[in-house]
Amino acid sequence: EIAKAADDAKAAGKEGKYLINITNTTQQDILASLNNRTVRQRVLDASLYRTEKGDSNDTQAIVLRLAKLRAQKARLLGFPNYAAWKLQNQMAKTPETVFAFIKSIATPYAPSAQKDAAALQAYAKAQGLEGDLTAADWSYYANKMRKEKYGLDENEVKQYFVTDSVLKNGVFFMAQKLYGLTFKERNDLPVYAEDVRVFDVIDHDGKQIGLFYTDLYRRPTKSGGAWMSNWVEQSHLLGQKPVIYNVCNYTKGTNGQPSLINFDEVTTLFHEFGHALHGMFANQQYPSLSGTNVARDFVEMPSQIHEHFAMEPEVFANYAKHWKTQEPMPADLVQKIKDAAGFNQAYALGENLAAVSLDLAWHSLTVEEAEAITDVAKFEEEALRKVGLYNPQIPPRYRSSYFRHIWSNGYASGYYAYLWSEVLDNNAYQWMVANGGMKLENGQRLRDMILSRGNTQDFNTIFTAFTGLQKPDIKDLLRARGLQ
Ligand SMILES: [Zn+2]
Repeated sequence: EIAKAADDAKAAGKEGKYLINITNTTQQDILASLNNRTVRQRVLDASLYRTEKGDSNDTQAIVLRLAKLRAQKARLLGFPNYAAWKLQNQMAKTPETVFAFIKSIATPYAPSAQKDAAALQAYAKAQGLEGDLTAADWSYYANKMRKEKYGLDENEVKQYFVTDSVLKNGVFFMAQKLYGLTFKERNDLPVYAEDVRVFDVIDHDGKQIGLFYTDLYRRPTKSGGAWMSNWVEQSHLLGQKPVIYNVCNYTKGTNGQPSLINFDEVTTLFHEFGHALHGMFANQQYPSLSGTNVARDFVEMPSQIHEHFAMEPEVFANYAKHWKTQEPMPADLVQKIKDAAGFNQAYALGENLAAVSLDLAWHSLTVEEAEAITDVAKFEEEALRKVGLYNPQIPPRYRSSYFRHIWSNGYASGYYAYLWSEVLDNNAYQWMVANGGMKLENGQRLRDMILSRGNTQDFNTIFTAFTGLQKPDIKDLLRARGLQ
């Protein structure tokens, strides 16, 4: 990491110095490994105040202007505020529902956050930290504590996750167990980059459903992250079968060693493939209503529900094999992965809830309220205090002045959708667990009732029909995150 900071400085024309680049979220990965507390605080401050320095990158005036314009737009369209307009075609439908949703999670979250903070503070003190644990110290000590408590070595874990095996013996295997699908590689079709692969997706009756492309490895010119999209949308009107791709940014294999990934990356592949299935099973007349063209607070449900199957014992045993020996992963290592997954959940949930609250606060303003705001940071603090989520130890995942999701990326009044979908997917998954788990009947039911429906039915109706619940119930999410 030190060498990388030196390289980055050199690339920026500052040879002989060190450069730490700030990433998009408030919390910075590098904080977990910075031993020097002063440097940690400098890095976090650089993150928190990146767009509030009074220079040409200061966005506060733009934020105020956007909030005002959106309130005006909503009024022109006959709505009290922007969120009320934006949410009308979402599953949640109204800002009141979303506020109630935030509150229902924030209430049980609060005591668990206090417990986590106290435990971490005590641990840090024993390690020699003076005074109070700050947001800049959190990852550093959490990371140390995780290592000590669970002894989980990422490098050891990775030896069992060969990317190609996770795809074929994990993701494809799950699709066979749940839906009876098979995949046949095509080498006769053109691809846009060297490592892109194409598969025929064959249904249980032997008919081709569509094409599935994978583009899994990092390239210098590629955007970061992972995603799914369609090149061709399914449509009966246009006589089109879906052509779908999954993109990831895994590290390629080297020196005779195959590409190896960590468990987060394994889960990502199951996630993106869940989106792919949502597109693949589409059965719509119109392309605009087909597949994943659904409400933002519903679209992550089909992807996230498939993440659960990464840990399904039959699936896991089929793909998690040591790349050299083909030995299955030892049971104690599997247990360590499970145990460590619940660690530090309060921070992750707290920063998420705070960001969700900020999004809603900015977008539920009337024109007059928006016009009265002059101080972005002050409004932010007050909005968080109002919902009991103001906590300098756990700042929002994005502060208002660099919350790109809501100001320019289409997530205005929609940031809650991630958590909301997580509630839906946990409810739906629990239905499956209670009814026999991973089997063809349950897969067919998921396909018939959700994955093939596109945007042709009310999402609440779909949800209730599948789960038998009148409305989303947060208890399965709280349990999954170890908060209950
Ligand atoms: Zn997704």
